[in-house]
Amino acid sequence: MSVLWTIADLIAATHGRPIGAMPAGITGISIDSRSINTGEAFFAIKGDRVDGHDFAGLAYANGAALLVVSEGKLPALGRLTAPILVVKEVLQALVDLGCAARDRSAAKVIAVTGSVGKTTTKEMLRHSLSACGSVHASAASFNNHWGVPLTLARMPENTTYGVFEIGMNHPDEIRPLVKMVRPHVALVTTIAAAHLGNFASLDEIALAKAEIFEGLAPGGHALLNRDNEQFDVLEQAARAAGVEHIHTFGADPRAEFRLIDYVAGQRSNVLWASIGGQTLEIPMGAPGRHIADNAVAVLGAAYLAGADIETVMKALATMQPEKGRGRRYRLAIDGGYFTLIDESYNANPASMRAAIALLRDTVPGEGGRRIAVLGDMLEMGEFSGQVHAELAAPLAEAGIDDVWIGGTEMAALRDALGEEARVEYRDDADGMQALVLQAVRPGDVLVVKSSKSTGFSRIVAALLDKH
Ligand code: ATP
Ligand code: MG
Repeated sequence: MSVLWTIADLIAATHGRPIGAMPAGITGISIDSRSINTGEAFFAIKGDRVDGHDFAGLAYANGAALLVVSEGKLPALGRLTAPILVVKEVLQALVDLGCAARDRSAAKVIAVTGSVGKTTTKEMLRHSLSACGSVHASAASFNNHWGVPLTLARMPENTTYGVFEIGMNHPDEIRPLVKMVRPHVALVTTIAAAHLGNFASLDEIALAKAEIFEGLAPGGHALLNRDNEQFDVLEQAARAAGVEHIHTFGADPRAEFRLIDYVAGQRSNVLWASIGGQTLEIPMGAPGRHIADNAVAVLGAAYLAGADIETVMKALATMQPEKGRGRRYRLAIDGGYFTLIDESYNANPASMRAAIALLRDTVPGEGGRRIAVLGDMLEMGEFSGQVHAELAAPLAEAGIDDVWIGGTEMAALRDALGEEARVEYRDDADGMQALVLQAVRPGDVLVVKSSKSTGFSRIVAALLDKH
């Protein structure tokens, strides 16, 4: 493994006080003693539930080359003889190191925020830009007060493109994060009802996301979704933040990076887009109109970051949907097959509609049905009943054969759908799992979608296990 930080640069950035024999450098950074690799530095971050200092010994036993701990926490480490760097406060040291990583880097940096599609878009950027140069991107959804500085601090010096997911649950969260990242391109995927419990309106959500414009690098670009209802709010906020280069993507004819058409086929999906004055026909590795929307945003961001669009376009053809975010499985059953679309990672009204459209565009096999297996959308606050009931319309429009819904919040959708034969309701994920395992037939195509903590991912696991 190559050296990520020399010890001299690490100490200079964090103002740490070394104790014991220091390594020459570290090969990576970890905040988790279970997954740390040999040669990495362990940063003992104090979270809501656990304090990393309690796991420093374990991290050392698992190969840590250096333990970074907060002043005053040394007694907790007992007689540990590991190389230790004592800093004032570990999270702040990680932030300082992240800023040093950004300072020393010549990478083109793209930051992605939005209510849905951040990780999907970030992974599409990682995949497609990897064909153009070395890419450093956030792991998983590491998009918060520790995820962003950790991702930054992990960025190798010779990175060509840095791709950062930035998220938020409340106002004033994105501002300090984007000031560390200082992106050349700030992309807002879309504004939609997510974490609604903390906000009075979608406009308020848009304003909180718009904090991303306040940390743009000088001469940086804002990239906004022209199709989104909150476009005007975002554009005004970008202007107010002094952004000179405001760009748009979307299907709207006024969009600069424009989705001209999208055709979902059974074996291939194609989108037509206008990028930088060129009309492109782009084969897509993953189906879904929402993926096509993301793709136009990816092409726009890549263009603004100076990447070769032909290369990015070719790479989009080989991308696969992420686990829990649209990945497909063809599973054997009774001498035939059924198709499982795993959307169990998360759900809110926008991504539910995207998943319903995905199901509509997928043709079942001989004698099969289109089945929507839907669980609760959480964090919807006082709007919960309404946003669940409102799914009745897209389900009817898409002509979904069977609607199997489960969970307390989904009772509102059950009531809205009425006594239809195609509707099955169960109280929770366990009840739904029993139904799905017993009732799925050859030819069926089913999408499983729900908020993370409802346990609907267990239904996917059970299907993969059994078939
Ligand atoms: P989180 O806030 O949990 O990190 P996220 O913004 O990173 O969420 P993703 O994980 O990318 O979002 O996607 C969440 C769900 O939304 C997935 O089911 C995904 O397929 C779907 N999705 C992705 N892009 C879009 C889009 N542009 N519009 C609607 N739904 C989308
Ligand atoms: Mg995410």
